[in-house]
Amino acid sequence: MSVCLLVSEDDPHKPIQLHHQQPVTLGRGPETKIKDKKCSREQVELRADCNRGFITVKQLGVNPTNVDGVVVGKGNQVSVKPGQRLYLVNQQYPYTVRFTEDTPTPRSAAEKSKPSKRAHRMSSEGNGEKSSEHHRMSDDSPPPKKTLPSGSDKPESAGHWSQGLKVSMQDPKMQVYKDDRVVVIKDKYPKARYHWLVLPWDSISSLKALRSVHVELLKHMQRVGDQMLQQCPDAHKLRFRLGYHAIPSMRYRCLHPDWLLMRGGRGLSRMQCLGCLFLFSHVHLHVISQDFDSPCLKNKKHWNSFTTDYFVESRDVIAMLEHDGKVTVKEGTSELLKLPLRCHLCRQEQPTIPKLKEHLKTHLPS
Ligand code: AMP
Ligand code: ZN
Repeated sequence: MSVCLLVSEDDPHKPIQLHHQQPVTLGRGPETKIKDKKCSREQVELRADCNRGFITVKQLGVNPTNVDGVVVGKGNQVSVKPGQRLYLVNQQYPYTVRFTEDTPTPRSAAEKSKPSKRAHRMSSEGNGEKSSEHHRMSDDSPPPKKTLPSGSDKPESAGHWSQGLKVSMQDPKMQVYKDDRVVVIKDKYPKARYHWLVLPWDSISSLKALRSVHVELLKHMQRVGDQMLQQCPDAHKLRFRLGYHAIPSMRYRCLHPDWLLMRGGRGLSRMQCLGCLFLFSHVHLHVISQDFDSPCLKNKKHWNSFTTDYFVESRDVIAMLEHDGKVTVKEGTSELLKLPLRCHLCRQEQPTIPKLKEHLKTHLPS
């Protein structure tokens, strides 16, 4: 069963775990760090339904609790799903809910005082210095800031999910479509004229974590992706593909100082910080036009990740899940990223990215 977390959006205190169908009252107090007298000590009663992926919120305090701008009202109850924002009182103290795949294991005192080897390895993968809690490590975004503001131990105030897709998917400005299961955002570093990402609200770390129960969700993601195409003004002249990267490049580095402990061992598919339960990647469907006419397409890795078998068609992923109950990534898939630059349309090899881009222009629709 998944675990429900209530995540503070402005003051990054540790997420609060809600157990399935166990009521929890929350309000002013040390747990939330809220000192505001307008917030009652028992402002809301929360109850998570981990099977169906939502929580119910009952307002107990006098001052208004609201969800996405709509006041709950004293004595009333509403449900809150991932993607919605719960403001504990007076449009302040925003929280979101998340459902993750696993139950956290409590850490022993010894573990707490000694970060794991794995954690050391993770933190030295980047620049090795403290910074905000989670850093993207793909080569798409600017590198993480190197130092903390002087005199501060605290992560930057950008929030708990400080960077990357997880922030973008929650950001209404980035969202181009959302429903109760998925959200669509524009890729921040588009590799073609049209490049969207369809992300499930539920945290699913990667293709490896997918099981038969996810088939319906994946079909829905594909349908939503198809809808994006139908609304695209250039759909009639561009070709599109919908698919997943076999191995996600989005990786995060957790520098939660006291909580550096990963679980899952081999591969990124199950890596999770036990302090914040942050999953180190989040499955996403690429919906991308095949012109590859974009300044963000900069290197061989970008090119090969969309034009070789590293890019797995959505329908193939669904078929594999239906047939085998899981998705198998062929051995040696990561080697595909090193292949020579070959035009995806006429298969001509090109020596460099600039030459390839010149060549691609010859295929562009007029
Ligand atoms: P991959 O993990 O390789 O399947 O791809 C991750 C995708 O996310 C890439 O296409 C990136 O350009 C895109 N991306 C990275 N950071 C962000 C962000 N903050 N918001 C939206 N898209 C992003
Ligand atoms: Zn060509």
